[in-house]
Amino acid sequence: MEKISSGKLGDGGQSSSKRPKRSTSANEQTNEPQGHEERDDICCARSVAQQVGAGRSTNGPVSWIVSDPELLDCPICFEPLTSPVFQCEDGHIVCSLCCTRLGRCSTCLLPVGNIRCRAIEIVLESVKARCPNTKYGCNETMSYSLQKVHEQTCQHVPCSCPFSHCNFISTSTKLYQHFSEKHQNSAVHFMYNRVLNIVLNVDNKFIVLQEEKYGDLFILKNMIERRGNVISVTYIAPPARKESLVYDLMARSGGITRRFQSLAKTIQKRDDNIPALEESLLVPADMFGYYGQLKLQIRISKSRN
Ligand SMILES: [Zn+2]
Ligand SMILES: [Zn+2]
Ligand SMILES: [Zn+2]
Ligand SMILES: [Zn+2]
Repeated sequence: MEKISSGKLGDGGQSSSKRPKRSTSANEQTNEPQGHEERDDICCARSVAQQVGAGRSTNGPVSWIVSDPELLDCPICFEPLTSPVFQCEDGHIVCSLCCTRLGRCSTCLLPVGNIRCRAIEIVLESVKARCPNTKYGCNETMSYSLQKVHEQTCQHVPCSCPFSHCNFISTSTKLYQHFSEKHQNSAVHFMYNRVLNIVLNVDNKFIVLQEEKYGDLFILKNMIERRGNVISVTYIAPPARKESLVYDLMARSGGITRRFQSLAKTIQKRDDNIPALEESLLVPADMFGYYGQLKLQIRISKSRN
């Protein structure tokens, strides 16, 4: 593994100092030594050990520690490498997309596109990485190049409690349980496909909505901007969902009605950013009336994709 760590196979000595840091998971094996950094490990099968000459004879998988897992990323676009991988005559590697786009090695300017780097392709097939959400209960192990794809669909993505004074973080399911137990009285409860009537104060930045049957959590966000209040609904859940959640908002005041319908975006952490106008209901300040209150109807509908 020393060879890989030193960059001989990986980035051809090209600097990786400018790349954005990306989390990399580990596949800890039962014979793993104590005390190493979990997120910097990559486990390789025995066949790889033979291919790259790790010189270990064993019948089971071998655990290796890779000091810089990003050497399995393309040194140009920083995306995880996938087969085919190309190299210039001087051995600098590049992913197939950057190879097509550039046509030349960005380090030494030699042509690139005729020589495959089979050694790194074999390594890529054999290196297995654990999902970064292992500590939240995900047991998935996947090839390094598929890790990002898995992360986009993983149902164990951590979600944070929407109250900033509470630092609870866990899967969405556990967060819903936590919220029911600890903050039961701090949410407005509703049922899917039914209209909920609330009175919103002009300066109330957010209200937590909790579905009665499933415990699902939503944030009704109410931010003040130049033209009035922008109101939106987001769903605290992993990024990929099997269901579509559509919300309808209707504000009424003094004979004026404003409506908005949208898919509820999933979030894993509440933020106080002002939502884009196309993703929210804009309510002019005068609709909040003398006492700064607005009557709002909300309906959240759930349908399977
Ligand atoms: Zn690339
Ligand atoms: Zn080169
Ligand atoms: Zn996962
Ligand atoms: Zn909490």
